[in-house]
Amino acid sequence: MEEAAAAERNNLGGVRYILLVLSGKGGVGKSTISTELALSLRHSGKKVGILDVDLCGPSIPRMFKVQDSDVHQCDAGWVPVFVDQEKSISLMSIGFLLEKPDDAVVWRGPKKNALIKQFVADVAWGELDFLIVDTPPGTSDEHISTVEALRPYKPLGAILVTTPQAVSVGDVRRELTFCKKTGLRVLGIVENMSGFVCPHCSECTNIFSKGGGEELAKHAGVPFLGSVPLDPQLSQSLEDGRDFIQEFPKSSAFPALT
Ligand code: ADP
Repeated sequence: MEEAAAAERNNLGGVRYILLVLSGKGGVGKSTISTELALSLRHSGKKVGILDVDLCGPSIPRMFKVQDSDVHQCDAGWVPVFVDQEKSISLMSIGFLLEKPDDAVVWRGPKKNALIKQFVADVAWGELDFLIVDTPPGTSDEHISTVEALRPYKPLGAILVTTPQAVSVGDVRRELTFCKKTGLRVLGIVENMSGFVCPHCSECTNIFSKGGGEELAKHAGVPFLGSVPLDPQLSQSLEDGRDFIQEFPKSSAFPALT
């Protein structure tokens, strides 16, 4: 009954492209890439939504500094949170539904899967050029639920985020297998935290090995989308909910993020 009502509302009907952002493990910069990608698309005049399905570690609301916002209901479902007056970026996250932003979500799989289905069906996005789906780390039940719920809307594909180290790259290999098994096209691999940009002289030093992401992309026959160095200005911008792309166009992280 509920599914029929959601299908009738067709809340993703006005979305042109759906992209998923995946990573093998947490902390490699998946939400950072989702956020900067949204900001970059906004700068090229696109309307973007981010659906944060990282139910146990939602960081998207904080990265846009709207973590105290509430989600309201309308006839079509949940109204997403807009980050600007122009309504060029809208967000949906479990972070907006928790009583306190730091509340822990201790749910079993079926409850998480039900919420993911509801996120896919019940958010009134309106017209969007891109919907970026920020997923939890790994390849869990939640990923399968997300991909299955999105399948009728034909997602464009997935961007995989890795750090240069072998372990993280190995995790991405599993993500590649996941994409293959679920029929999700891989749009490419981004290597994040690839070197460190000195805040004083702006020189980039490779503190970890470099190039693992590029090599993996070559090996897997998928596009390599670029390397983003560790940049303290980027993490500070994310802490403060500021627009890094607008404020630091000279950063060596800028080219890959745009
Ligand atoms: P994930 O979504 O994979 O768990 P996040 O995007 O939340 O990872 O990133 C983890 C932390 O690392 C965040 O505090 C973020 O600000 C920081 N971070 C990620 N990428 C970079 C980068 N290239 N330069 C500086 N800080 C980064």
